[in-house]
Amino acid sequence: MYKRSLRIAVIVFFVLLVLLAHFGGRMTAVESFTFAAEKREVYLTFDDGPSTVVTNRILDTLARENVEATFFVVGERVRGRESTLRRIAEEGHTLGVHSNTHRYGEIYASEEAFLKDVTDCAAVIRRVTGLTPTCYRFPGGGTHARERALLEKLGYRIVSWNAVCGDEEIPHADAATLTATALSTARGKRRVVLLMHDSAPHAATAEALPAIIEQFRQDGYVFCAF
Ligand SMILES: [Zn+2]
Repeated sequence: MYKRSLRIAVIVFFVLLVLLAHFGGRMTAVESFTFAAEKREVYLTFDDGPSTVVTNRILDTLARENVEATFFVVGERVRGRESTLRRIAEEGHTLGVHSNTHRYGEIYASEEAFLKDVTDCAAVIRRVTGLTPTCYRFPGGGTHARERALLEKLGYRIVSWNAVCGDEEIPHADAATLTATALSTARGKRRVVLLMHDSAPHAATAEALPAIIEQFRQDGYVFCAF
């Protein structure tokens, strides 16, 4: 009787061992597959700066949260804010060309005007920070096939976006609205390029940034810069 119980106990032990090895192994495989498949990246991008107050508030938040971002700047807005432009570079963020004047009528008037606008903005960035920008974002968005070819010849990487916080699209949006809009327009995307603005009227964007970072972090996103 005792021998029989012992035999049953040994069999049960081995069955459990086999089941554990089988399902344990499977769980590890499933977990690593899920991790690889769901790798999520978010690029925070700020257009139209630098501005004195908003850009520096945004930089404070990025430093506190240890997050890198990309700033597409307007050359003419650098005058008097050279230290802010340098701070963007020194704190490890990427500087890109957005325009020298941000006046659409002048920028897109001709190929020559377009090229002058790009090179003027790049020259300001180079003079103030010593860096040569390699990224470009079209002022006003759009496809601009002819200008795109010119930029590619100059070696620029053209950066668009696939999510917005709504700071240009929704008039007088508060921080909660901007956070909700960023999350809803990014939903379901594994690689998010989020459009935001750091020019003077966008205090609400700076206010929303901590919550935007927290939400993306909770959703498992990694922060990247171009
Ligand atoms: Zn712009």
